[in-house]
Amino acid sequence: MPAVEDVRVLDRGGLDRLVEVLLREGYRVVGPMVRDDAIVLGELTSSAALPAGWGVETAPGRYRLRRRDDAAVFGHSAGPQSWKRFLHPPHRALWSTGPGGEFVPAEEPGARQAFLGVRACDLAAIAVLGKVLAASGAFARRRAGLFTVAANCTEPGEVCFCASLGTGPGASAGYDLALTERIDDRGHRFLVDVGSPEGARILALVTTREAADDEVALARDDVAAAAGKMGRALPPGDLRALLRDSRDSPVWSEIASRCLTCGNCTMVCPTCFCTSTEEVTDVTGEHTGRAERWASCFELDFSYVHGGSVRTSGEGRYRQWMSHKLGTWHDQFGTSGCVGCGRCIAWCPAGIDITAEAAKLAGEGAGDAGR
Ligand code: SF4
Ligand code: SF4
Repeated sequence: MPAVEDVRVLDRGGLDRLVEVLLREGYRVVGPMVRDDAIVLGELTSSAALPAGWGVETAPGRYRLRRRDDAAVFGHSAGPQSWKRFLHPPHRALWSTGPGGEFVPAEEPGARQAFLGVRACDLAAIAVLGKVLAASGAFARRRAGLFTVAANCTEPGEVCFCASLGTGPGASAGYDLALTERIDDRGHRFLVDVGSPEGARILALVTTREAADDEVALARDDVAAAAGKMGRALPPGDLRALLRDSRDSPVWSEIASRCLTCGNCTMVCPTCFCTSTEEVTDVTGEHTGRAERWASCFELDFSYVHGGSVRTSGEGRYRQWMSHKLGTWHDQFGTSGCVGCGRCIAWCPAGIDITAEAAKLAGEGAGDAGR
């Protein structure tokens, strides 16, 4: 955390001007907005679309918008989308053929991106993706020049559990600016921590004031208190060992009796990264191209090798997803594949809760986490 004397205060109108400044400086600004009864992420042409006064209610298999009794802009927890879609898009053209059959590489977007309102768990997810996709030039190009405005969490959602993974609720690194929103008798404002020289340069283009010591302390207390408001946690201990030693657990077949293998959990997860490539030809037969799209380990074809799929059962596919996410991800990338955002819990149509399933495995006594 930057020193108290470096914290600035941005009033509510200042947030609008911050968006204007980022646009003027050539950034493509992406932030939260209400669409289709959810808070989604989209391109902002002004601050007018920000979800002021909207909150959400979440539970396993449930997500509902609700009206807040204040005008908080960041008073909502994670929605169905994550920032992944702007760094590692769901569908990406790789190349096509031109009229003469010549090879035409796909154009990459040129604009630098500014993400507004990134939670600490999602900052951690971007860092995880950076390790996973370290060799991807496309990811690196999109991430280069990224400007990140974090939003520290003071009201976690019902399915959040970032505190048990150490990825939230406060942003500790990886941001240019970090906002903590407060609405009290001193007004609606944002305490701003500066995390980079570019953050300082942009903030200098917006009117701010020095923060009083006590309002910094209150904002810090709000964020620290959010950790204690989370009703979920992954079991403590060595989850890698837990998953390794749980291979033959009866818990997997019980989960499979509920799991629809729909793949929603992988689509909403901010760190799931798998893709498939496909060739497409139009009906004239004159144009063809290759594209990359997100794939899911819940697809039957995902594990297809030489004549058949390796994981034909739902049991095998759920076990693969969770064992990779919480276990072997450490072996591959030196980090957990889960940042505790809770999206897979809210958006699972069967209400399957990764924290509850991990607790069941731990309760069986498998691995260090069960001891
Ligand atoms: S755990 Fe839930 S979201 Fe994931 S594949 Fe199964 S039913 Fe779908
Ligand atoms: S596994 Fe679930 S809680 Fe963990 S990062 Fe992915 S979507 Fe979020």
